Amino acid sequence: MNTEANQDWIARSLAAVWHPCTQMKHHERMPLVPIARGKGAWLYDHEGNRYLDSISSWWVNLFGHANDDINRALKDQLDTLEHAMLAGCTHAPAVELAERLHALTQRTLGHAFFASDGASAVEIALKMSFHFWRNNGRADKREFACLANSYHGETIGALGVTDVAIFKDAYDPLIRHAHVVASPAAVGVDEAIAAMRALFEHRASQLAAVIVEPLVQCAAGMAMYDASYLTRLRALCDEFGVHLIADEIAVGCGRTGTFFACEQAGVWPDFLCLSKGISGGYLPLSIVLTRDSIYAAFYDDDVTRGFLHSHSYTGNPLACRAALATLDLFDSANVLVENRRKSALLREALQPLAKHARVKNFRERGTIFAFDVDIEDKTFSRRFFANALQRELLMRPIGNTVYMMPPYILSDDELLLLAQRTRDTLDATLAERIE
Ligand SMILES: *Cc1c(COP(=O)(O)O)cnc(C)c1O
Repeated sequence: MNTEANQDWIARSLAAVWHPCTQMKHHERMPLVPIARGKGAWLYDHEGNRYLDSISSWWVNLFGHANDDINRALKDQLDTLEHAMLAGCTHAPAVELAERLHALTQRTLGHAFFASDGASAVEIALKMSFHFWRNNGRADKREFACLANSYHGETIGALGVTDVAIFKDAYDPLIRHAHVVASPAAVGVDEAIAAMRALFEHRASQLAAVIVEPLVQCAAGMAMYDASYLTRLRALCDEFGVHLIADEIAVGCGRTGTFFACEQAGVWPDFLCLSKGISGGYLPLSIVLTRDSIYAAFYDDDVTRGFLHSHSYTGNPLACRAALATLDLFDSANVLVENRRKSALLREALQPLAKHARVKNFRERGTIFAFDVDIEDKTFSRRFFANALQRELLMRPIGNTVYMMPPYILSDDELLLLAQRTRDTLDATLAERIE
């Protein structure tokens, strides 16, 4: 399928670029896709072959590639202000974005702290929680809790609240571990709440915060759980005086059917982390939203009671402007309602696949669809990836879990194509002889 231009970029990339989340030796056999351009839900290589971006380029792209509205906003921003530091200075894109996110949280989370990637947002929330307690004379509250199979990013601090062995085990000696508590996705809501209560009864005076991925533990393989867990966890956190951090980096921005996943539980966290989709998939941007009461605990004549964390590109105007343009798109089109209709269509089209003899645990939440494939084969994910490419789909199963997390702009025809070709890809992958 790849001809000269493609081959050239592949060879140069493999010679010079260290790709993320990849055992590079696998590329001796696994195709690397040289992307030349993107439009809408499609990515194109140098020979004009196209690939449907069924996983929104790692869950970031909401309104398609080269989106006309976001492009227009960014071009205007480029000619106005590309960047200025956010310490001592301010600018409209950061202010407006903080204000709009405050409004979207029903005016609950009134202050926004900016960073550039998801892991940094998680680190910021952990540090803020600890520092809040410290400023209140409770420096003994320095432990954290997370859920089994949780994923919160891969910097050393974020790995402390992550429970995915493949990302964590090699660095174990470097990590300060959190308490890992049973996940409602694995044991059900009652048992998971009981486990959290048991930890709180024992350790609440040392616990600063518990961090969760609301509704869907995405990196663990799209493990889903009921919203009532979050409602009960919020009550537990209030009862024991422990902060609740909602990591909505993957599930925020409409992914689960509401703008924030927490809305389905009718609760707000003390810290809410956003990244991935918030810039429409355009630029690295992350945000930690928190309550004014938490912000107030840092407001003091003493500089060291302030939150002195920073990144060079904190609040980058281009990234903030991309986020504002993304929020405009939510406002101008009835995105969440239209997504419900599209998800119903995709659900219907995926019915034959859901009943496939080798498919287990077909599940969905909002615009996330996933199923597990009954196969003993460590190469399944890579073989599925290659077979999907041959059918014009970009998909990257997590182990034996195949999932779809498409951009919101797929047409009905594209949704049907996605369903049919996923089915074809599965059959082709199952038919291959495993070496
Ligand atoms: C992707 C992700 C992160 C980390 O974000 P990066 O930008 O990759 O650092 C953290 N938490 C969740 C739930 C994620 O999906």
